[in-house]
Amino acid sequence: MTAPYNDSADVIHFVSGELYAGSGTRSQAVFNPATGAVARQLRLGTVEDVDAAVASALAAFPKWADTPPIRRARVMLKFLELMNQHKDELAAIITAEHGKVLSDAAGEVSRGIDIIEFACGIPQLLKGDFTDQVSTGMDNWTLRQPLGVVAGITPFNFPCMVPCWMFPVAIAAGNCFVLKPSERDPSASLFMARLLKQAGLPDGVFNVVQGDKTVVDALLHHADVKAVSFVGSTPIANYIYETGARLGKRVQALGGAKNHMVVMPDADIDQAVDGLIGAAYGSAGERCMAISVAVLVGDVADKIMPKLEARARELVIRNGMDPAAEMGPVVTGQALERIENYIALGVDEGAKLVVDGRNYKVPGHEQGFFTGGTLFDNVTPDMRIYKEEIFGPVLSCVRVDDFAQAVKLVNDHEFGNGVACYTRDGQVAREFSRRIEVGMVGINVPIPVPMAWHGFGGWKRSLFGDMHAYGEEGVRFYTRQKSVMQRWPGDVTRGAEFAMPTAK
Ligand code: NAD
Repeated sequence: MTAPYNDSADVIHFVSGELYAGSGTRSQAVFNPATGAVARQLRLGTVEDVDAAVASALAAFPKWADTPPIRRARVMLKFLELMNQHKDELAAIITAEHGKVLSDAAGEVSRGIDIIEFACGIPQLLKGDFTDQVSTGMDNWTLRQPLGVVAGITPFNFPCMVPCWMFPVAIAAGNCFVLKPSERDPSASLFMARLLKQAGLPDGVFNVVQGDKTVVDALLHHADVKAVSFVGSTPIANYIYETGARLGKRVQALGGAKNHMVVMPDADIDQAVDGLIGAAYGSAGERCMAISVAVLVGDVADKIMPKLEARARELVIRNGMDPAAEMGPVVTGQALERIENYIALGVDEGAKLVVDGRNYKVPGHEQGFFTGGTLFDNVTPDMRIYKEEIFGPVLSCVRVDDFAQAVKLVNDHEFGNGVACYTRDGQVAREFSRRIEVGMVGINVPIPVPMAWHGFGGWKRSLFGDMHAYGEEGVRFYTRQKSVMQRWPGDVTRGAEFAMPTAK
C-alpha cells in the first residue's frame, strides 16, 4: 500500500515504485494561482536522477515486455477503476496548481481516463497479421514489439490528460516509462504514480522525474531512452524533435496553436456565440485547442459582436474551487504579465479593444493571477496578436468577405492544430473539412479533441513527427513492427539459391 497523498509535502520524484528525493539541491516554487501564494516546493531533478529512473525502467523492461498483453491490460483495468474512484481528488489537485475550474479539471481527468480505457484493449490492438503459404511450405507474419524505455515530457495546461495521452498506451504495449511533468503543476503526476503502483504495476515500469531543461536534455541524450513524446510550445517541440531525431530516437512533438473558428453568415448565431465563449475563455484560454481567433464572414460580424461583448463582460471569474466559477486564474504571474502585454500590443497595433480584461481583481483573491476575458475586433493578419500564440483568455476577431478568404486565412497561418466552422450548409462544411490544412476539424463543434481511439495531432508547426498521440497511431508509435518468415525442414527445396527468392 502506498503512503497517502500529502499535499503540503515537497514534490519529489517517483522511481522504482517509491517516492525518490534524488540528488538535486535546486528547487522551484509551485503556486496556487488563485491566491498567488507559494503552495509547495518542487525538487528539480538532475542528470543522475534521470540515470536512476532510466536504469530502473531498463531493469523492469524485459519482464514487463514478456508479460502477456492480457495481464498488462488487467493492470490497466485496475488503474482505470482507481482513477475513476479518485477522480474528484485528482481534479482538486489540478485546480489547486493549474487554476482551471473544478468541473473543467474533472473533464480533463475524464478525457485522460478515456485513454486508459482504450489502452485496456491492448491485446486486440497488438494483434499482428498472418499470411499462410507465402511460398510453398512458408508462412509470413508481422508482430509489434515494445521499444524499451520511453519518455514523456508534458506541459502545464493538462497535467493529467496529456500524460494520459502517453503512458497508458506505452505501458500497455510493454514499454517502461519516464515522465517529466510540467514544473508548474507537478502533483498530479505523483498521484497517478501511486495509483499505478496500487493497481499492481511492477516497480520501475512507471517513473517520474520532476524538473526543467536539465532533465529534458538528460532524457533526450540518454542512450537507453528509445522514444520521446513531447507536448508543449512550438519552439521547444521543434528543439525536442531535432535533437531527438539527431540522436536516433523516435519522436512525436506536439507544439503550439492558434485555433480559428470560422462563422459563416448562415450559422446559428447563438450556437456560435456559445461555442466561441466556451472555447475562448474556458480554462482561461490555456488549452491547445482553445479558439483564439474568430473569423467572421460577410455580415455575421455585426450580428455576433454585440453578443460576444455582452457575454465576455458577464464571465464569472473566481477561484476555480468555487462551483459557480466559469473561468479561474491563469497559471502564473509571468503568464499574466505575458497575456496583458499582448493586450497592450494589440492596442498599439491598431486592433479595436472591445472588452479589456486587464487588471481584473477578484475580491478576497487580490494576489491571484486573474485576468478578465478580453475581446478584440478588427484584428488583421499582419498583427502579432494574430500571428502569435497568446495562450490566455483573449479572443481576436478578424472580418473577411467570403468563405474562400476564410479558408486562405486559416491555411496561411503557421499553426494547424484545431479549427472549427459554424454553418448550416452541408456543402460548405464538406468543402471546409476537405480543404483546411489543420489536423483536427470541428463542424459546429468548437473544440474537436478526438476521442481516445481516434488519436490527437495537429498539422504544420503544431506537430513535429509522423504519428499523432494515442489511438492506433499511439500504439504504432510505441511499438516496432517485426516481420517473420518461417518454414520447417521437410517441405524445403534443397540447394543454395543465388537468385532473389520468389514465391515457389
Ligand atoms: P512549454 O513548452 O513551456 O513546456 C512544455 C515542457 O517542456 C515542460 O515540461 C517544460 O519543463 C519543458 N521545457 C520548457 N522549456 C524547455 C527548454 N528550454 N528545453 C527543454 N525543455 C523545456 O509549454 P507550457 O507552457 O508548459 O504549455 C503550453 C504550451 O503547450 C502551449 O504552446 C500549448 O499550445 C502547448 N500545448 C500543445 C498541445 C498539443 O497537443 N499540440 C497540448 C497542450 C499544450
